[in-house]
Amino acid sequence: MKITDVELIPVSTPLVVPFHMPGTEITHIHSIVIRITTDTGHVGIGDSGDTSTWYRGETPESIAAIIEKHIAPRFLIGQNPLAIEKIVGEMDTFVRDNNQAKALVDFALHDLKGKVAGLPVYELLGGKTTEGSRQGWVAGAGTEEFLVDQALLAIANGFSLVKIKSGGDEAQDVRNVKAVREAIGEDVRLVIDINGFWNYDQALHTIRKLDDYGLYCVEQPLPHWDIEGLARLRQRVGTPIFADESAQELHHLKEIIDRRAADGLFIKLQKAGGLVKAQRWLTMARLADLPVMSGCMIGSGLEASPSAHLMMSNQWASQFTHENLGPLIINNQFENAEHRITADIAQQVPVFKDGVLYANEGPGYGIDLNEDFIAANGTLGGEVRHVRDERARVLV
Ligand SMILES: [Mg+2]
Repeated sequence: MKITDVELIPVSTPLVVPFHMPGTEITHIHSIVIRITTDTGHVGIGDSGDTSTWYRGETPESIAAIIEKHIAPRFLIGQNPLAIEKIVGEMDTFVRDNNQAKALVDFALHDLKGKVAGLPVYELLGGKTTEGSRQGWVAGAGTEEFLVDQALLAIANGFSLVKIKSGGDEAQDVRNVKAVREAIGEDVRLVIDINGFWNYDQALHTIRKLDDYGLYCVEQPLPHWDIEGLARLRQRVGTPIFADESAQELHHLKEIIDRRAADGLFIKLQKAGGLVKAQRWLTMARLADLPVMSGCMIGSGLEASPSAHLMMSNQWASQFTHENLGPLIINNQFENAEHRITADIAQQVPVFKDGVLYANEGPGYGIDLNEDFIAANGTLGGEVRHVRDERARVLV
């Protein structure tokens, strides 16, 4: 079996209500849908976009370009798609960084392999260790009133954790945490994500104030490169500190573990570089007895699926609460068991019910592309790119 065609389709999915993060208002999710086709007619699909250039530094344009110009012609076309570990190794050896692009390829290869085997991806990853992945709700940044409203709605819909984003003003962040904590009571887990926007001085003094509110954690208070700062900070505050942007490659995890710089780790499969690399990552977290939370780049039902399959199969990760909510955030709803989502890149959006995400059954991710939606929501100025095996086409 050989890969004969790699197709890259830019799609812009509108959000029903804009989502806010530090310095960022998200009105559309600009993503790349990948379709990998073999000489046997098997097709693997994936989707990934970026909502914030400061998180990964990759964009839909850079993801499409590195796959079209380098990854597809050198490591995919003419190669065996089932040899995923080999392809991931080659991508890592010959293309530095670009983990989101690598993840997109890895996602599609797992879908393809599942379809060849006639098995859901979670079976390829070891089988289910839980029937569903428990989710927290991400309310974004906003006023006290908005965040309290979001938190109460999330709890009413079965979510067991609420996360808010820093709005860029530490005093307001403290007021927001206080208001949400008072509204939701002591038993619901509450997280604030700073996305690396504080310096050490801001972090030390603000987290000391936040220590009064029993947070589950403060996520990434310092810039991604300041692992030593996280270690110092952790010694001087009471609130647990999780590393997100700091924790990308395995050597980052080793440094965080060696320096005792975090109480927990936050993983996104796009940051880790796909399912193969995420499994290595989770093994290091398990080794160090560090809890993990996983998130998403805010995307379609197809974008949410690789993480959903992994979080249900990986025994370490399945113990914890995650936030893989893309389809719900895009559509401004708290479940899709009753209110089905149809405006999505995926025809079969995985089900979110009572704060739990269930990966689809069926081969691969159990998803067909929603061709009508993709055709109607092509990125303005974006072009569909094909990389093909010219020799295979001549032989056909
Ligand atoms: Mg984060």
